[in-house]
Amino acid sequence: MSFCLILLAAGNSKRFGSKLPKPYNKIAGKTLIEYSLNKFKQINQIKKIILVINQKHKNLANEIKEAKISKIIGGKSRQDSTLKALTYLKKNYTFKNVLIHDAARPNFSMNLVKKIINKSKNSSVIPRMHIQDALKEKFDKKNILNLNRKNFFITQTPQSFRFKNIFNLHVTNKLSYMDDDMSLVENLNNVTFVEGEKRNFKITTKQDMSLLERFLNYNIKVGIGFDVHRLVPRRKLFLGGIKIKSDVGTLGHSDGDPVLHSITDAILGASGMGDIGELFSDKNKRYKNIRSTILLKEVINKIKSKGYFIKNLDINIICEKPKLKKYKKIISDNIAKICEISENQVNIKGKTAEKLGVIGKEQAIACEVITALTKYD
Ligand code: ZN
Repeated sequence: MSFCLILLAAGNSKRFGSKLPKPYNKIAGKTLIEYSLNKFKQINQIKKIILVINQKHKNLANEIKEAKISKIIGGKSRQDSTLKALTYLKKNYTFKNVLIHDAARPNFSMNLVKKIINKSKNSSVIPRMHIQDALKEKFDKKNILNLNRKNFFITQTPQSFRFKNIFNLHVTNKLSYMDDDMSLVENLNNVTFVEGEKRNFKITTKQDMSLLERFLNYNIKVGIGFDVHRLVPRRKLFLGGIKIKSDVGTLGHSDGDPVLHSITDAILGASGMGDIGELFSDKNKRYKNIRSTILLKEVINKIKSKGYFIKNLDINIICEKPKLKKYKKIISDNIAKICEISENQVNIKGKTAEKLGVIGKEQAIACEVITALTKYD
């Protein structure tokens, strides 16, 4: 059973109170849109994604590039946007099933999506939550009605529908206001409910953002990396993937970049995937003089396929020469690019060995790295 996902990110974020529109706010270097996308992308049954954006956010959305994704401009309301996406889908594709999701809910689990997809055979599938707090209704100025919370529930997204049904419902109910797509489905016989998730809360305010940030902090894995290379004449010097002007360079089977090697090891450590020597043996001719950038990119793709991404990298480069001050920015920008994170997630510190030992005598260069990874789950 294959699905098209409609990801709604066209709201104007009025209640959010920030210049940057809500879906483009970042936590650990990833926008709210990316959190949803990167999870949905790992679900095999989702073959196509339609990202519905606000006309005013076009530039911000330009950064999101994926083969599976088409971007369309949304309408004035959530409902308008969904109908636009469904109409686009009708014109260009033939999906029998759709999933509709609000980008303001980035913290659903992949299990929830799998559960919804598995139950989607003949009915709409809606995640719902029962109410645990006391529920009241304001009756008039003086009186309050105490409601029986057992009769109420709240709904979440993603919601799954047969394309034909939801398209027709949207066309016939164009003018009535609805908070979600399930509101259009009148006959509950055609609906299967699955248990929603507390963690799948909707980001509405700044407070919700910090709640999400805390949530991600519970899921951290830390890794450490260290590397040292001998400095010799007639070799090139690469630090963090950048070629540095120098009379001496590092000896090594690959390009001998101690910074990228330490980063690679730290990431492999945090994700429990062994070490650089196991993955890229120095006995293997393929890796002779290979740029370490290629090796690190391979590792980044490996951790991505397991749902990990980097929260931060803290790097000590230990050498007498070159003086690192003027290279720090270009090195950290390059590392950020390779690791697919923002520059502010990389910190580089230049250290010397106070003329002590082989590093102090300019015969070697060393690097140590600590990283924290977090995971989409
Ligand atoms: Zn090395």
